[in-house]
Amino acid sequence: MAINTENSEIAFNDAKQYIPGGVDSPVRAYKNVGRTPLFISRAKGDRIWDIDGNEFIDYVGSWGPNIIGAANDRVVSAVSAAAQKGLTYGAPTIAETILAREISEAYPAAERVRLVNSGTEATMSAIRTARGATGRDKIIKFRGNYHGHSDALLASAGSGVLTDSLPDSAGVPANATKDTLLADYNDPASVEALFEANKDEIAAVIVEPVAANMGVVPPKEGFLEALRSITKKYRALLIFDEVITGFRLSYGGAAQAFGIQPDMVCFGKIVGGGMPLAAYGGKKWIMSKVAPDGPVYQAGTLSGNPVAVAAGIETLAILKSHPSIYERLDQKAATIEKAFRDKGLNVNRAGSLLSVFMTDEPVTDEKSARTSDTERFTKYFNQMLDNGIYVAPSQFEAMFVSAVHTKEDIAKTCDVIKSLEL
Ligand SMILES: *Cc1c(COP(=O)(O)O)cnc(C)c1O
Repeated sequence: MAINTENSEIAFNDAKQYIPGGVDSPVRAYKNVGRTPLFISRAKGDRIWDIDGNEFIDYVGSWGPNIIGAANDRVVSAVSAAAQKGLTYGAPTIAETILAREISEAYPAAERVRLVNSGTEATMSAIRTARGATGRDKIIKFRGNYHGHSDALLASAGSGVLTDSLPDSAGVPANATKDTLLADYNDPASVEALFEANKDEIAAVIVEPVAANMGVVPPKEGFLEALRSITKKYRALLIFDEVITGFRLSYGGAAQAFGIQPDMVCFGKIVGGGMPLAAYGGKKWIMSKVAPDGPVYQAGTLSGNPVAVAAGIETLAILKSHPSIYERLDQKAATIEKAFRDKGLNVNRAGSLLSVFMTDEPVTDEKSARTSDTERFTKYFNQMLDNGIYVAPSQFEAMFVSAVHTKEDIAKTCDVIKSLEL
């Protein structure tokens, strides 16, 4: 039976009077699944509630940050304590060094780290730095990978743009993307071909080491290794966009999980513990190009914000002091994966990230992801939601399992999956 969403419908109509599409980020709209987005009143731990009083087991987790659940008590205390001392100073604090050191120790390639406010800023700044450090203009990105919404990286966007079937974004000048070359995910030959055709012109390859913005698409055996050796061969930089995977696939992100160190890395989501904070980093020689040490300009009024930094430090401390979290995340996600498989559905998984695909064939890149039967996905989504399971309203987003999902949560989720009529 459909849940009651009367209050959300009223709130959505009001929101549309003032906010484009009624939402502050397009993935939040339920446009593609033919219903009104739920307006949220609160979230705690494994649960989220809407303004009609419906309660859900939350597998969106704010799209990644909530790996230890929503509003963890220790994180909330750290945030309140920091807020009491001032919301922003625009001057350095010791806490920023503590967070940067923690990131650097978790991630060997991040010898120097700069804190920013969003994943979009992190990737945009990393690209600028890579160009400044190499003196080259071109970059390679993969079709179906998403790196935020800066102009140069919207050459072929995943996620929301994929759902809306827009090949690109309006308002991005052709000049802004002319140096962005597109390769196919899981296809090293497509990367090598671009390097051959653009000798000594490519600054960097940016990649989601596990793609999670066209649905979850893990790297094939040898793909990341190939990117490492190709970039070395052509003396270009390898940038891992670990905005989703960082501190999720393991404490050392995908780099640790797959045993490959990039030259630069971008973090977001988990690293801010639910606050607007992200980071980019890299080898010392590369990051020495960033102002004020070097000529690559990048700045931010609220960068390293003390309240956000407090949330990040506390979240990482909790993850670090419970190393078994990652194993248990893996087991819980594997249980859900099995429920999908038992139902005869295609599913991709990497650790606590998974996606069910309404496709006939396995999904390994953007092209195969696009074969999804999105009408069937809509049926799936609505039945999950009406049965108390909050998942992303898009075929091209991940399901995020968290450390606070209980055995009972997972069992209930599997029961709902079992009962799906697709
Ligand atoms: C979410 C995401 C971004 C953008 O981060 P924002 O904080 O939304 O700007 C960049 N890269 C990847 C891989 C992401 O998943």
